[in-house]
Amino acid sequence: MDYLAETIALGVDSLILAACIKQYYKNKNAMMMIQGAPYLEIDRNLKEIVETHPEGKLSYVSVRGTVKPLGNPIISINNPNVSGVVQLLRIKEHVVQRSTTGFWADSERTIQEVHNVMPFSLETKGMQIEVCDPLAADVLDMDVISDTFHPTVPSVMDHIWGFFAGIRQRGVQSTEKMLRKGTMITGIGELVYAKDGTLRLQPPSNGAPFYLTNMQITSLVKKLNDSKKNYRLLCIVFGTVGVILSGLIIRKYWKHKIELEEEAKRRSQIEESRRERRRRMRDEDLPENQLCVVCKSNPIEIILLPCGHVCLCEDCSSDITELCPVCRATIEKRAVAYVL
Ligand SMILES: [Zn+2]
Ligand SMILES: [Zn+2]
Repeated sequence: MDYLAETIALGVDSLILAACIKQYYKNKNAMMMIQGAPYLEIDRNLKEIVETHPEGKLSYVSVRGTVKPLGNPIISINNPNVSGVVQLLRIKEHVVQRSTTGFWADSERTIQEVHNVMPFSLETKGMQIEVCDPLAADVLDMDVISDTFHPTVPSVMDHIWGFFAGIRQRGVQSTEKMLRKGTMITGIGELVYAKDGTLRLQPPSNGAPFYLTNMQITSLVKKLNDSKKNYRLLCIVFGTVGVILSGLIIRKYWKHKIELEEEAKRRSQIEESRRERRRRMRDEDLPENQLCVVCKSNPIEIILLPCGHVCLCEDCSSDITELCPVCRATIEKRAVAYVL
């Protein structure tokens, strides 16, 4: 197909554009929601404020406090002096892989990822808000406690095997991240007054993003705004590419269509001139040997090769494809004959 390359390019471009538009609106909405979320101090009045709201709930607010474990904190496996409330342990394998194009390229895959979580609260001035379901947060900032890379030392056998299998291990990376005890973080989410008399920050039920970040609100809004601007730029770039590709496809289509029309016009002109020639020849009352041997009405127009018989009109020659009707020789080729 003529348009295959352009169509594939347009398809890929549309997918990227759609993803960029989605991200743009996601950032824009998140920014608007965060800007619209009231900031509340964690203090003695907070309980009362939440309690007086309908269903004892504030649908989207931001609070800031230090992380305080409820119970014994998780101790880091790499640094016993560090303790926290959310722990991420990840093991990644780095490989060099032969791609479908034949080149070797670096890639990585996660072999194992484990999260450990324990209950914790955000605290200021002795007042606390319990944080529920921290792993459901859209953004959960954690400190990197340890990040080590163990390179693989390949044997000769590994080299040979790797060459044939198209994959070679470069090494293994193990990472430990933690939300540390005592970190000052901003929580943005739904604040509820639970039946047991505690305040809880949880993922918003209205689908708004849930944040547990060490950034201040202003920095978070700025970051979202920057990201929104970047996605807008990408949308413009990929949108323009899409318009150009569509233009190319439309132009090609029109060109093709005009060519077809011209071809049809040319054919009908040829047909017309042939009919005209036949009519003239019929008027001249052609002798028997100048008439097609099949229909006996049109003049002879086609020469059959290799036998060289000029015995058919063009209409009949399209039905007779195998043997010459005069000498029964196999028809290998045919051409227009000009009989004066
Ligand atoms: Zn004929
Ligand atoms: Zn023949």
